Amino acid sequence: MFFDTHAHLDAFAADGSLEAVVSAALAARVSRLAAIGGSPAADDFAFAFASAHPGFAVATAGLDRDQIGSADLPALRERASRDAVRAIGEFGLDYHYGPDTRREQRALAEGQLELALALAKPVVFHSRDATEDTLAALGEFSRQWHANGFPGPCGVLHCFTLDRATAETLMSLDFFVSFSGILSFLNADPLREVARALPLSSLLVETDSPYLAPRPHRGRRNEPKFAARVAEVLAETRGEPLEAVASATFANACTLYRIQPNQGTET
Ligand SMILES: [Zn+2]
Repeated sequence: MFFDTHAHLDAFAADGSLEAVVSAALAARVSRLAAIGGSPAADDFAFAFASAHPGFAVATAGLDRDQIGSADLPALRERASRDAVRAIGEFGLDYHYGPDTRREQRALAEGQLELALALAKPVVFHSRDATEDTLAALGEFSRQWHANGFPGPCGVLHCFTLDRATAETLMSLDFFVSFSGILSFLNADPLREVARALPLSSLLVETDSPYLAPRPHRGRRNEPKFAARVAEVLAETRGEPLEAVASATFANACTLYRIQPNQGTET
């Protein structure tokens, strides 16, 4: 069984394909997923989906960088307090797409890290061209998380593309590192080297669908079913049996999203 730890299902609802996408995921043994939020509308969609599919999906709620300017943290707190919402996100720091809004991104990220501490929920963090500020923010978050005595892990850096030292720092902060279809790309040798070097106990797989389909499906729309392909690439990369990688990453995802792993799948 596979766990897609990061899927944007609202994209499939918008074009009417959601039911077929869910069936295809289950047929590919992707028996769990996290429906990721990032705006009031995406959060409400993820929550409604998780509530309707309690054995299959959990939800997250957050404010991504597109919400700068309209961010309403008290309203997010209400959305994020619901039980089906297992993490705050996605949000983070993206200095590649938003170089002019660094200060605003940092403020919005800090507000959500504080909210995550107030609710004792882990975070789903996005980082691009912002490694130093990411490690500073998550380092402080991790310190406070543990000072409060909350059980780990305290979050995930999703769609990981950074170097080994950064991955090891994140692991020491009690963060998971999540690999996406990027791991399969032809130019991703350095990333595959990182994936080989890390302990399986810190790794997750995700699709980030509908973006970033893995090879050989690159260029097509990505779907949760391809979490199985990402796990296969991770297993090949590490020279480990697929089932070992699948069960370890599945159990890790259940820990992050606070799911009893023996709970049955129902959709
Ligand atoms: Zn995402």
